[in-house]
Amino acid sequence: MQQVAVLGATGSIGTSALDVISRHPRRLRASVLSAGSQVDALIALCRTHRPDHAVIADASRFDALRDGLRDAGLKTQAHAGSEALDALVASDACTTVVAAIVGAAGLPSTLAGARAGKRLLLANKESLVLAGELLMQAVHAANATIVPIDSEHNAIFQCLPDAHARAGLKRIVLTASGGPFRGRTRDTLADVTPAQAVAHPKWSMGPKISVDSATLMNKGLEVIEAHHLFGLPADRLDVLVHPQSLVHSLVEFVDGSTLAQLGLPDMRTALAVGLGWPERIESGVAGLDLLRHGRLEFEAPDLAAFPCLGLAYAALRAGGTAPAVLNAANEVAVSAFLQGRIAFLGIPALVEETLAALGSNSAGSLELLGEADRDARRFAEAAIGRMAGRIEAMQ
Ligand code: NAD
Ligand code: MG
Repeated sequence: MQQVAVLGATGSIGTSALDVISRHPRRLRASVLSAGSQVDALIALCRTHRPDHAVIADASRFDALRDGLRDAGLKTQAHAGSEALDALVASDACTTVVAAIVGAAGLPSTLAGARAGKRLLLANKESLVLAGELLMQAVHAANATIVPIDSEHNAIFQCLPDAHARAGLKRIVLTASGGPFRGRTRDTLADVTPAQAVAHPKWSMGPKISVDSATLMNKGLEVIEAHHLFGLPADRLDVLVHPQSLVHSLVEFVDGSTLAQLGLPDMRTALAVGLGWPERIESGVAGLDLLRHGRLEFEAPDLAAFPCLGLAYAALRAGGTAPAVLNAANEVAVSAFLQGRIAFLGIPALVEETLAALGSNSAGSLELLGEADRDARRFAEAAIGRMAGRIEAMQ
């Protein structure tokens, strides 16, 4: 029996993971569930899945979690805070970790899973962008198994199951849906709203990654993610817009062969690959009926309308702390956009300004990366203040 810790259980990926787990009661069990601050949603999941442990990141919600679990008559133990989560992830409470917390907040628990040699189902792409080298070193040192859950990287993982298959690899092509604003020019994006930005045409996801998909920063983060997972430099990682979101990515070999993985846009397929690997298990997702879907189309990404993709390539090429700065500035910018504090085009502007101001320094330790992350957040917040000041001055 695989004991699975689902981190970010109340989110979009967490919910999909629990759906797949509950289809295999003799093989999989959710033993640890974690959430950020939504106690009621976490308790509701505990009623259904009866884990041994439930962890709320927001320590001020601990009493509510403990009392709620007791009132529900559950034996699930309540815990709070990031350190409690990391300790549980590293303990024998789980053999498998679904890392599905959003943002840099997911790094400590992801690292804890890697260091403890767990089977790591990695959805939290920000942890690879922020600390990819250190995280991959930890995976190798502890002999952890990492299965990417991002659909593109999961597709590549399926096409390149072992080192042998990677020998003749020429390049990787990540597909992108293009998001809700595909085909629009830059000047028509000035006044798009958060509601428009999170309305993704093909995937149902949390708000942060939905905005990242609309700016194409999501694809930029994924290029950096692919660099760490598959060891290719930026100039062998390409991006192709594919509006139908049925081809999840492609790998090209030196002999002219290209392999791709196809399927409906439903994250349960990637999660089932991770939970069952190397066996294939039911995910609840229907097979692909290509006759019904008809056409598969491809186009080049528009870097003028969506500069975030170019900024991510630049950060990857600069190396060092630049990807950590990119990620932190983007998290601040997306959150400010969702709160209505900056406009959509303010997101790339803020990331560009922060990258230009902070540059790239040595990223040899977690402390240095943490410092770069904090500096970038501070700079980006101050820059938002200046942007607001400029807008007020213009009115
Ligand atoms: P979401 O917003 O739906 O869920 C986020 C989860 O993280 C929630 O359970 C929330 O309670 C928890 N959380 C938030 N802040 C936290 C904190 N500070 N500490 C601890 N927990 C916290 O997000 P999502 O769409 O499920 O995405 C999760 C991760 O998976 C992201 O890194 C995203 O990029 C990645 N991902 C998601 C999808 C998708 O289809 N949703 C696809 C590929 C990759
Ligand atoms: Mg993806």
